[in-house]
Amino acid sequence: MERSFEKYLRQSRLPHMWCPGCGNGIAMKAIIMAIEKKGFTQDNTVIVSGIGCSSRASGYMDFDTLHTAHGRAIPFATGIKMARPDLNVVVITGDGDCTAIGGNHFIHGCRRNVDLNVVLFNNNIYGMTGGQASPMTPLGMKATTAPYGSVDRTFDVCALAAAAGATYVARSTAFHVTHLADMIAAGFDNKGFSITEALVQCPTAFGRKNRLGSPADMMKWMRDHAMMKAAWDKLPADKREGKFPIGCLYKSSDEDYDTAYDRVIHIAGGDK
Ligand code: SF4
Ligand code: MG
Repeated sequence: MERSFEKYLRQSRLPHMWCPGCGNGIAMKAIIMAIEKKGFTQDNTVIVSGIGCSSRASGYMDFDTLHTAHGRAIPFATGIKMARPDLNVVVITGDGDCTAIGGNHFIHGCRRNVDLNVVLFNNNIYGMTGGQASPMTPLGMKATTAPYGSVDRTFDVCALAAAAGATYVARSTAFHVTHLADMIAAGFDNKGFSITEALVQCPTAFGRKNRLGSPADMMKWMRDHAMMKAAWDKLPADKREGKFPIGCLYKSSDEDYDTAYDRVIHIAGGDK
């Protein structure tokens, strides 16, 4: 039987190194579904990743790919987009990679409104490097660096992105896979900085430390606590405790960086 997504994967790199039950493969497939949905190809899409479990995806995906340095995917992707604005540039990053090591690159990517499509695999922890707390580890949850529960407050990366200037901000989960693919695809339509936060289960580093049960239990938690944005908006503030919204959370039509930069080139006479 033909498996339709096989052609998008580098067979020589398989089997992958993700743990059984990890959500990263689901998020990777959602990206490929979005690429197919929008009619992009392996030749006009570039995948750029940083370092971490999430960022391994660039090695498995048979596109033009860059597996870069920790936290630095957005600067590399910015360079590609400036040189080749015709390409669909997708950045795969994790919560640690994007909001700690690469935090400053992230906010300035948003501020510039570079036409990139960031998909942040949020597993709430540093998975690959040993289960340390990240800026997106929920308050009170355990990590190897927070054995009694994290006391550091947690970034809401969607609120952070919108405040910093991103023009498309969405969230979904590994449980809601078609919704996740749709959110990523809608980001492709935005000419400007798009970010989709994909909540993914990490049964090994996060789940085990916090006794969250099996990978399926972790996905059921996503099902039971995520709420579509329209329903979330109608919910009184005192009923929101423990829930979180998914969907397109913010959108604006601010000018993207390529367009602004083209104007500078024109003023300087560089396009003659
Ligand atoms: Fe997935 Fe967590 Fe294993 Fe990394 S450590 S591969 S995120 S389950
Ligand atoms: Mg992580």
